[in-house]
Amino acid sequence: MSIRPRVAAEIFTRDRWACHWCTYPVVFAPALKYLQEDVRRRGGNVPLAYYDFNFARLYAPLLNDLAAIIDHVQAGSKGGPTDLSNLITACNRCNMLKRGLDEAAWRKLIEEYRELRSLQNRTAEMPTEWDGFSTMFLLALKDDRSAASSSELEWFEALSRLSPLSRPGAPGV
Ligand SMILES: [Zn+2]
Repeated sequence: MSIRPRVAAEIFTRDRWACHWCTYPVVFAPALKYLQEDVRRRGGNVPLAYYDFNFARLYAPLLNDLAAIIDHVQAGSKGGPTDLSNLITACNRCNMLKRGLDEAAWRKLIEEYRELRSLQNRTAEMPTEWDGFSTMFLLALKDDRSAASSSELEWFEALSRLSPLSRPGAPGV
């Protein structure tokens, strides 16, 4: 099932751009694409590994680990509901790991992992200000949408609606 940007943007924002499973901050992949282009535009003509469409480790290690993904708490194939309550933000790493394990093995692994994380961080709470670089994406497209794909335009609309930039009194997107 493919999730529309409008729904995904709501879930990422609701979850404060953190992985439901491991609590790591996640990254909005298209923002890294624009960051890479921005570096190039500024004369950074060196090989960069910020963005890759497939989040391949070799070409985009940050996205390979932490690209924001929409995941199901309970798989649709196992009777999980299709509404927002069953959809969560995950990082690409958890999503890939989870796919290779059966449900019980995954739950056990992630519970142990979260315990370790809370020992490291004391709190799994994400700051409300973390945005997965989505504000950077909004500002890049605000300046110039001529090269944006239709899906990027859809993301732009969806994220704009939810961005603090769109609140009354804010500079606006
Ligand atoms: Zn994760």
